[in-house]
Amino acid sequence: MRIHVTDIHEFKRCRKRYSYKKQGLKKVKDTFSGNLWFGIGIHKCLAGLYQGFNPIDMWREYTANPGNLSEEDALAFSEAVVLGTNMLIGYSDFASTQDDFNVLGVEKELTCKVPGTRVTLVATIDLLVERMGKLVAYDHKTQKRFSTESELELDHQMSVYLWMIRELGLAREYGLGFGGYNMYNMLRKSYPSIPNINKNGTVSRQLIDTTPEIYIDTVIKAGENPTDYADMIEKLQKVKFFHRLPVYRSNVELDGVGERLVYDLREMTSSKTFTSFNERYDCTYECSYTDLCKCERVKGDTQTIIDEMYTYEEVRK
Ligand code: SF4
Repeated sequence: MRIHVTDIHEFKRCRKRYSYKKQGLKKVKDTFSGNLWFGIGIHKCLAGLYQGFNPIDMWREYTANPGNLSEEDALAFSEAVVLGTNMLIGYSDFASTQDDFNVLGVEKELTCKVPGTRVTLVATIDLLVERMGKLVAYDHKTQKRFSTESELELDHQMSVYLWMIRELGLAREYGLGFGGYNMYNMLRKSYPSIPNINKNGTVSRQLIDTTPEIYIDTVIKAGENPTDYADMIEKLQKVKFFHRLPVYRSNVELDGVGERLVYDLREMTSSKTFTSFNERYDCTYECSYTDLCKCERVKGDTQTIIDEMYTYEEVRK
């Protein structure tokens, strides 16, 4: 039996959601659906960038047909299009100077048998690279704020990816060392603003979300001297739109990941449906089954909800 690592994440997050997904239920709605839609699109464009395509053209194509949107969604959609375009322009510049690796695979699929189970795990790694003689998996993340190291150490999905890479001896296959870490490639969901010019012709000292380079450029264009704005330029040095963070897992930790995988996979394969819900405040924006789930929790007519709002898609094997 093949199980995707992302399904383990689904299962651990909410048994009920995992069951809905395994039934192939998919919400019928406009193609634009906020955060998830945005993240998927940016991921596709980043994959394209590392395959030699123009990510901006890809984004244009991705956003070309949003479907029928409500007025509110149409506004959110056009803001998202601008945000994505600017993020990708900024990232392409950032990558052109900061990419210190050789690409070995884009959206690289790995499969690995899990000892003690009948499961073959499947993973898709955003970017597999050689960096300083080591094999390293890169994971793209679009975020409102950058995650911290202590938060990312708890990212089970990446822990499993690292466990798979070690279990498969993949680094050796490439003639490389095993880095023992993965790199989070984080893109903040924002882009630099242009500073305002005051009525007296000076540049505003209001602390806005921008880069020192854009601030200096505005100062020069306003005919001002950048040295007079040294304090502002220093403050802006801390503002980042892209951030790469390596997060390590020790061998002992990865041993534990492998041991716990066996228990998780046994539970996942023990039944076709699960009845427990894991309601949380963030369900509304990170789960597409909220209507169905709510209906089921209040013992409503779930079949009507399914008929009106969902369709069945082929479940990946
Ligand atoms: S809405 Fe929350 S509780 Fe319901 S299926 Fe989704 S994740 Fe689970």
